Amino acid sequence: MISNAYLKRVYADVCRRDANEPEFLQAVQEVFESLELVVDQHPEWERAGLIERFVEPERVVSFRVPWTDDAGAVRVNRGFRVQFNSAIGPYKGGLRFHPSVNLSVIKFLGFEQTLKNSLTTLPMGGGKGGSDFDPKGKSDGEVMRFCQSFMTELYRHIGQFTDTPAGDIGVGGREVAYLYGQYKRIVNRFEAGVLTGKGLTFGGSLARTQATGYGLCYYAAEALDHLRGESFQGKTVVISGSGNVAQYAAEKCIQLGGKVVAMSDSQGYIYDPKGVDLQVLFDIKQRRRARISVYADEVPGSEYHEGCRNIWTVKCDIALPCASQNEMDEDGAKALVANGCIGVFEGANMPLTPEAIAVVQSNGLLYSPGKASNAGGVATSGLEMSQNSMRLSWSFDEVDQRLHEIMKNIYKACYDASVQCGRPGDLMVGANIAGFLKVADAMMAQGIV
Ligand code: NDP
Repeated sequence: MISNAYLKRVYADVCRRDANEPEFLQAVQEVFESLELVVDQHPEWERAGLIERFVEPERVVSFRVPWTDDAGAVRVNRGFRVQFNSAIGPYKGGLRFHPSVNLSVIKFLGFEQTLKNSLTTLPMGGGKGGSDFDPKGKSDGEVMRFCQSFMTELYRHIGQFTDTPAGDIGVGGREVAYLYGQYKRIVNRFEAGVLTGKGLTFGGSLARTQATGYGLCYYAAEALDHLRGESFQGKTVVISGSGNVAQYAAEKCIQLGGKVVAMSDSQGYIYDPKGVDLQVLFDIKQRRRARISVYADEVPGSEYHEGCRNIWTVKCDIALPCASQNEMDEDGAKALVANGCIGVFEGANMPLTPEAIAVVQSNGLLYSPGKASNAGGVATSGLEMSQNSMRLSWSFDEVDQRLHEIMKNIYKACYDASVQCGRPGDLMVGANIAGFLKVADAMMAQGIV
């Protein structure tokens, strides 16, 4: 519930104007509930219309993406880029290719990204984009033609000093490479910093592929140690999803001494009481691009269960939701509590419904919102841009160490903000406030723009 009169008025306005954007409203409401704790100390924000400006994207682009499939039929998808906030740097945020993509999803992601990028301490504004194109089941040629058509429109809105996209769901190394090839061809410039998540032979950074998952575990380890005196050592871990974030969260968990017993895709989940064999999983997902059910066919002693939502019924100490928004509802959260889980750290963006967050927090579990705990991906994208600007490459260990440092600092910023606003250990409130204050300061300084 929002009770501050200014925030209430702005939220009512957002609800009226964006009534058909449920994911965006959900993200705004969560942030406003945190800002209640600080807004009274800043009467100048209302005079400057700061919050009204903060919830309105600076620019929204929607465009047609026509392409031809292997059978010669013409297909048409819808493309988006939401340039949300450039107060602290050029817009930055991934591209998502998934059938569920619409303006509400891209706006919620761009809004969250603004706060996340602020938390990284790097100079990056917030943006997000994507398409309702589904790369699943498409040939490499079809994916290439789609990416080329998408970039043929997008290129005029981006640039290393304007807006620098990256990957997200459905956009991995293959897609980023096709997008970059087309950008370079159109502008006739090798402008490496315009896209991140590139291949290592054309300006990519070592450790970018691993960064979101590794960063999530670094953040969780910091919170477990500081708030509970615990670590991953000997803990049972459940990770939803089996894409980029989930795979490398699993790898780091295991390196830190945890045992990952369950992972999922959008169809179902696998349970392996011995601990998931990552070599098999990586082969299924990275090389064969197959369903996770194949794992249970190939690994004796493991099981496959239809329906991904039930993954939260698997008993664990630590839960890492790494698939998609609203993937854990109240029942999922209650199942985790009943099984003695001690912490939920978000790898995906907004994977818990508000009801699930309430269950997790009211039962005393550690909880971190994605905008803090998954910020390692975009932070390492920032490091990729730094290397591109300097025209040199750092080693894997150098990037990984910087990532580790950044995640520790993000944790500290969230914790310190939670203390300052009288809610020590509430990392959701801490992330929202710490991320917002920096953006607010920059927006106030730059005048009414
Ligand atoms: P991938 O496309 O690599 O993997 C997505 C995974 O989630 C797949 O296993 C997919 O299953 C599953 N999934 C997708 N949609 C749903 C759904 N509606 N319900 C259940 N499962 C679903 O994406 P990423 O790993 O890159 O992204 C995962 C999450 O992490 C997203 O929320 C993304 O925004 C966030 N994130 C990603 C970052 C990155 O660097 N990649 C950075 C920060 C956040 P299937 O294959 O069956 O579709």
